Amino acid sequence: MRYHKIPDETIRRLPVYLRGLLFSSEKGRKNISSLDLAKLLAVNPWQIRKDFSYFGDFGTPGVGYDTEKLIRHIKKILRLDGGHKAALVGVGNLGGALLAYDGFGVFGFEIAAAFDIAPHKIGQKMHEVEIEDVERLATLGERGIGLGIIAVPRAAAQEIAEELVSAGVTGILNFSPVHIDVPKKVKVITIDIAMDLARLPYYMPAG
Ligand code: NAD
Repeated sequence: MRYHKIPDETIRRLPVYLRGLLFSSEKGRKNISSLDLAKLLAVNPWQIRKDFSYFGDFGTPGVGYDTEKLIRHIKKILRLDGGHKAALVGVGNLGGALLAYDGFGVFGFEIAAAFDIAPHKIGQKMHEVEIEDVERLATLGERGIGLGIIAVPRAAAQEIAEELVSAGVTGILNFSPVHIDVPKKVKVITIDIAMDLARLPYYMPAG
């Protein structure tokens, strides 16, 4: 089910709320008020109430939101409820760090396969994942892997994106600092830490 009317800005905030709710649930809290959730995440309680109002009323006055119910619902909206297997392409400095990161599991993501072109890396195991020859990307479809993570040098990014799409991937997280062209049905999110850094000094006190 798609929730067409939820604005992108709200969708962008839902994982933040989800992280707070999961944390709260781990602490054994059955309910949480928008005020407490806002304090936990250092966001505006009004914004939380407005965002949640897009998909129904889960709050009870004086009691707050039912944590588990809200977690289930946000996961359903974000389509995180079934879990996702991802393929990492490019196991260099960045790719290795991504494989080592244990923060993807919280949202149900698993880097289930890793690929590289360098012969000395192929066959090695890194954080329990065997590095495979990039020639094997075509096997992703039959392995139920629908998500790709690109961490190759920029010159190889477009070609890898095309191979991922041919293998049936419909979501790509791209770390290469380059625009990649894909068919409309495929969603690409490009992440560039340098871009975030580049706007940071603007907000810093002039020295
Ligand atoms: P790296 O050189 O350490 O690793 C690149 C890896 O890709 C190597 O293992 C190489 O063998 C492999 N590779 C090259 N061509 C390939 C191909 N056609 N198919 C499969 N594997 C291939 O580089 P890095 O420092 O890990 O950076 C990787 C990419 O991530 C670069 O594009 C870099 O600009 C980008 N990067 C982005 C951010 C960010 O914030 N988005 C941060 C760091 C790096």
